[in-house]
Formats: sequence, structure tokens, C-alpha cells
Amino acid sequence: MARIQSIRGMNDILPSETPVWQYLEGRVRDVLSRYGYSEIRFPIVEHTELFKRSIGEVTDIVEKEMYTFEDRNGDSLTLRPEGTASCVRACDQNGLLHNQIQRLWYTGPMFRHERPQKGRLRQFHQIGVETFGMVGPDIDAELILLTARLWRELGISDALTLELNSIGNAESRANYRQALVEYLTGFKDQLDEDSKRRLETNPLRVLDSKDPNTRELLVAAPVLSDYLDEVSRSHFEGLCARLDVVGVSYKLNPQLVRGLDYYGLTVFEWTTDKLGAQGTVCAGGRYDGLVEQLGGKPTPAVGFAMGIERLVLMLETLGVAPQEHAQADIFIVSVGEQADIEALNIAEQLREAMPTVKVLINCGGGSFKSQFKKADKSGASLAIVLGEDELQRAEAALKPLRAGQGEQQMVALADLLSTISKNYF
Ligand code: ATP
Ligand code: MG
Repeated sequence: MARIQSIRGMNDILPSETPVWQYLEGRVRDVLSRYGYSEIRFPIVEHTELFKRSIGEVTDIVEKEMYTFEDRNGDSLTLRPEGTASCVRACDQNGLLHNQIQRLWYTGPMFRHERPQKGRLRQFHQIGVETFGMVGPDIDAELILLTARLWRELGISDALTLELNSIGNAESRANYRQALVEYLTGFKDQLDEDSKRRLETNPLRVLDSKDPNTRELLVAAPVLSDYLDEVSRSHFEGLCARLDVVGVSYKLNPQLVRGLDYYGLTVFEWTTDKLGAQGTVCAGGRYDGLVEQLGGKPTPAVGFAMGIERLVLMLETLGVAPQEHAQADIFIVSVGEQADIEALNIAEQLREAMPTVKVLINCGGGSFKSQFKKADKSGASLAIVLGEDELQRAEAALKPLRAGQGEQQMVALADLLSTISKNYF
């Protein structure tokens, strides 16, 4: 019978890969906790309406990337394509937003029906950060500083550039929209199909077009920064001033708008040229209007999400992923039923007495020779050898597996633990 394969663009993360994932996740958790952030967890499936209303009907994600289905009750549900909308829903529903300050993070799989390629999957993973209740640019700056610190600690900051823009508040964007529509209408015939349609429905989305022709036309288009009102301008200047003081460099990118509708004021992306076309590893911005748009009270908010697959690729490409640890420190070789039982017992005693030492038992018979092969492969530095003869004398052999650890020796079972902890670990 034919084997059933995984779904295209939905990858298994194999035991050889998980150490890098765990390392990355561990460093992110550590940095976030030092900045006072708490973890939140929410479901992977939500009502479709949540994403339509937040991300925007006329965006790539909602128009063509969502995994949407009817459940058995006929409700339209969607596998989350991102975390911000769900996070807002969860916080509002549980009363975490009104008159409160929240610094939150989450991690997990996201789902988008895109064309799978390097750094672009259909099930991918993000670590996201969302903050609520803080209106000034300090928190925008904090989020950027936090990510900058993370890149430094991971050893990848030289390969990353911070791109920064302000897309202004709703009023600024409305003024700009008018100017952009006037400009683009003159070139309507030359726009790609999506952009033509968006010119009517959601013109700012045209700025996010990947079509080369459209991009060419956008070079001479009016720029948003010329349309920022005083409030938007001073928020952005406040952010830039803070980054300057701490010494985080950035590149102003007036074309940066992000692919989701809820953003306003600050938007930013960390990009690299080390991953080919999929160069954005972390992206975010301010979304002061979203909570209200989803039915809550007006609440200032800012957040970002990083793509774990792309960061893992970066760690590997730059050669800064941690060395894989050995599977075991001690391997117990045992031949014969009695020896197998004693091996299990000794292993438990070792784990009890030395919680940081990794102990592997053989499980499944085999000759001394084949078991020593397994011991070697496990990376253990010490083998404990138990055979019928040794057991008869209530002894075990200790055999160092690496050079420089001395000769094999016989030890009474009663002294095994103390000898090992004194002489080997
Ligand atoms: P892109 O422009 O690369 O499509 P995006 O703007 O759609 O990214 P966001 O929704 O802002 O991405 O998601 C934040 C981060 O999540 C991205 O910067 C990227 O690192 C990661 N990401 C997004 N989509 C995918 C995907 N399909 N596969 C892998 N990682 C992804
Ligand atoms: Mg995308």
C-alpha cells in the first residue's frame, strides 16, 4: 500500500533539528522574562470572522491564504494564520485589557496556504509579543531593543537590518490614501490585477504588491511620511530619538506598510540578506485601533512576531547554532536476564544521585560487542559493564570510553555510585 505523506508545506521537525529549536526558544524565553513579559496560550482554531475583521478582508492572508472550513455545526472556522487577533480576542474576553498594562508573549504553529519554498511554509511557527495599554513610543522602543538584544545574544545581529517606518494614524492615512489613489489612477492599466482591484477596495495594500511592474510605478508615488500629522510625526520622532540614545541603528523605509490592515503609526521589520527571497525574520508594529475594532474598549497596543523556521535557518547558515549534546554520559552494557534487571536498578540509582548526568541502558539484548557499538554511538564517556560473571562476584566493570580517563577497573556494586561520582562526574 502506498505510504501516506505529510501535507505539502507542513514539515516534521526531526530529533536532529529540535535541539536548535529548543535553544532558540530558550533564549527568547529568557530575554522576554528579563523584560517582564508573561506567556499567554490561546486556541489554534478561531471563528473565521475574527481574522476577517482584524487582518482585513482585502489582504493576501484573508483573500487567499487561510485554512477555512465548516465544522460539524456549520460554523465557519479558521486555523490561525497569525497570533495577534487571537491574542486580542483572548485578552478582551478575559478582562485583561481595560485599564491595565499587559506585556505578553506566545508561541506556536500558524497556518497559511502559500507556495511552499525555503523559509515559506504552510504550517510555520512564530514567537509573538503583544503589549496593551501603553500609548507612547517608549514601548515601541522597548520591543525593538528587546529584539536587538536577542539578536546580539544569538550572535546574528551583524546579519540583520532594522527597517522602520510610520504609517501614521487613521487621519494621516486617509489623507495619504487620496493622494495615492489620484497618482495610481493615472497608471491603472499598468497595475497588476490584484492592485487594480485594491485601488478601489483598499489602496494602501497596493504598496505591499510584490509585482515588479507595480513596484516600478510606486517609486515615484507620493510617500506616506509627507502626510503624517503632528501627532503621528512626534510619536515617530520619539521612537527614533530613543533608538538613537541606546544606539540601535535603523534604516528608514517609507515604503514599508506590512501586509495586515490593523497597523498604524510605527511599523518595523528585521531583515537579512542571508536567506534569499524570504528575508524578513521578525515584523511588527502598533495597532491602537484593533481592540475597539474587535468590540473592546479603545486600547493602545503594539507587538511583533518572529518566524522560528527562518531564525533557525539563520543560526544554521551563520554557523552559530549550538553543538549537539551527546545523548548519554553513562551507558550500561548488560548481558543476561539478571544483569539486565540489575542495569535498570543501577540506572535509577544513578539518576537519583546525579540528576545532571544522562544515563542510558541497553534494552534489547545483544552481544558485548554490539552493545559497545551502541555505547560509542551514544556519545557516553563511561560504560558500566554487567555480565553474569561480574554479578556472581557482586561487581561491575567501569570502562572509560574516551582517551585520558584512565584504565578499566572492577568495582564492587556497593561502591559503584560513590566511585562514579567521585572519579568521573
Ligand atoms: P512575508 O512578507 O515574508 O510574507 P508577512 O508579512 O506575511 O511575511 P507576518 O505576518 O508579519 O509575515 O509574520 C511575521 C513573521 O512570520 C515573518 O516575518 C516571517 O518570519 C514569518 N512568516 C510569515 N509567513 C511565513 C510562512 N509562510 N512561512 C514561514 N515563516 C513565515
Ligand atoms: Mg506573507
